[in-house]
Amino acid sequence: MPTTGRRVVLAKYLGVERMCVLGLAVLLAATVAVRVGNPELLRAFIDDAVGGKSLEILLLRGGLFLALVLVSQGLSVATAYVSGNLAWRATNRMRLDLVRHCLGLDMAFHQTHTPGELIERTDEDVSALANLFSSFVLQILINLLLLICILIVLSCMDWRLGLALTVYVLLCLYVLRRTSETASPAWKQASAALADLHGFVGEQITGIVDLRTSGAIPYVMRTFYARRRVAFLRQWDAHRLSIIISGGTDILLTGGAVGAFLLGAALFQAGAITLGTVYLVVTYTQMLAQPLQEIMAQIDDLQKASASLKRIDELLALQPVLRDGLGITSLPAGALALACEHVSFSYQKGAPVLKDITLHIGAGEVLGVLGHTGSGKSTLARLLCRLCDPDVGSISLGGIPIQDERIAVLRQRVGMVTQEVQLFPASLRDNLTLFSPDSDDERIVQVLDELGLEDWYAALPRGLDTIIGSDSTSEAGFSAGEAQLLAFARVFLQNPSVVILDEASSRLDVVTEQLIERAVARLLQGRTGIIIAHRLATIQRADQVAILEDGQLVEYGGRTGLLADPHSRFSHLLHIASEEVQI
Ligand code: ATP
Ligand code: MG
Repeated sequence: MPTTGRRVVLAKYLGVERMCVLGLAVLLAATVAVRVGNPELLRAFIDDAVGGKSLEILLLRGGLFLALVLVSQGLSVATAYVSGNLAWRATNRMRLDLVRHCLGLDMAFHQTHTPGELIERTDEDVSALANLFSSFVLQILINLLLLICILIVLSCMDWRLGLALTVYVLLCLYVLRRTSETASPAWKQASAALADLHGFVGEQITGIVDLRTSGAIPYVMRTFYARRRVAFLRQWDAHRLSIIISGGTDILLTGGAVGAFLLGAALFQAGAITLGTVYLVVTYTQMLAQPLQEIMAQIDDLQKASASLKRIDELLALQPVLRDGLGITSLPAGALALACEHVSFSYQKGAPVLKDITLHIGAGEVLGVLGHTGSGKSTLARLLCRLCDPDVGSISLGGIPIQDERIAVLRQRVGMVTQEVQLFPASLRDNLTLFSPDSDDERIVQVLDELGLEDWYAALPRGLDTIIGSDSTSEAGFSAGEAQLLAFARVFLQNPSVVILDEASSRLDVVTEQLIERAVARLLQGRTGIIIAHRLATIQRADQVAILEDGQLVEYGGRTGLLADPHSRFSHLLHIASEEVQI
């Protein structure tokens, strides 16, 4: 990736904080002026003392020196505050943008990137940048300015001194740049190995119950050690390189200091400079060594930040394949007709999951979808909500291609209850309205009643404010069936025009299932429905039935027609199911 990409990212986030950056620049300039001016005062003090000037003048110079020391302290506090503030504001904005960007990326992206890896990208990498703004900007910028000012002052005193030290500083900076370029890939690799490790740990923690019950802990531990080892070796390499770099720097600095001492002594002996100026040369040389050394010490941070910035820029450069529609023609109100025309789809090239599917569901009609596991039923549901787009063919709702409607509007109009119910560690209200700011408590309670959850709700300690979820903050427990009912409640509240129930009743016992049968009937009233089910009983209310096999539509037609045809797969399936029940 070109460095310009990184610069654009930096410029974008620092540009918003223009005033803060400006204030920081003023503070930095003042700090440097005070630090360069202080030895100048001492030089005058020494020369005045040697020259036998009056005590008042000496006291005045001493007092001024003390005052400047105090000002210098005040400035460093103010600079630390402003740069810390700048770092937090700029990087928090960056965090927000990154999270928003990641949430907008395609399903394919989320399937290839683990949650741990994304946390590393959006938090750890950005924290490295916060360090860049708060400590690095502070030190490197002050030090660089200090270097330049010292060189100017020394050149004004004696051009030979100025020239020798300028050559020396340029040499140091050249070496510094080269080493920075060498070490950056090592830090990038170290950070990637750490992200990989965190991703692995995150994944395993999520599946802890399955791991324990299946006795897979030894496998997890072995893999953990292997990944930890890779991460350690990468970090070891990166640190080793940094230590070699800082050792080389020390040798360079010591050589520079010796040279400057010799030159100062020679000039003093030749009578070219006074004793005060010798003090000044000595102090400035030490001051020169300090910024160089600090720049070297900060090079690790710079490399980490540079590697982080590179990865952040790479992440921001990823664009979702799914394009949001313009929403020029809005979807008609009420139930919507749904049409799939010759739809084919594959997650991976060359392995089609859906092949040439054509379906027409009238507004308010219900389609039952049957098929073996892996036949593509859930995939079809994902295409209808635009979680993915078909490779070939088109899908339209209410006569409008779904790609033309805004995704947010489309997902508002198409409600789905899936096999996996995700409950967040938040209040019951937020879980049901999905954090909508304008929720209607009465309506929520009414929906819970309709779903037969009134007893469960009545037992909650704080009603709708009760925190639910699967972590330690949870104030109420719920069974898998209750979780599924809560997912139903979400769709009720969303009030969509098309409802997709993907194996939605598979977790419910017979009694609970009967309980929601009524609710489902109500939910489907005035809405178009797609019911995906293994169990035939759940699609008794379907007007049409589609049977998928290996991604192909092998049977499709009116339910009663298929039922009447003794040779149809549907009636065959029903026959097998009724035999199973009798057994
Ligand atoms: P089930 O009845 O078990 O829910 P299904 O009919 O809903 O099955 P799908 O989930 O649509 O089946 O999966 C269809 C095929 O697509 C399967 O072979 C599955 O392995 C594959 N598949 C599903 N999701 C993905 C994915 N995210 N990436 C790659 N392949 C996938
Ligand atoms: Mg499925």
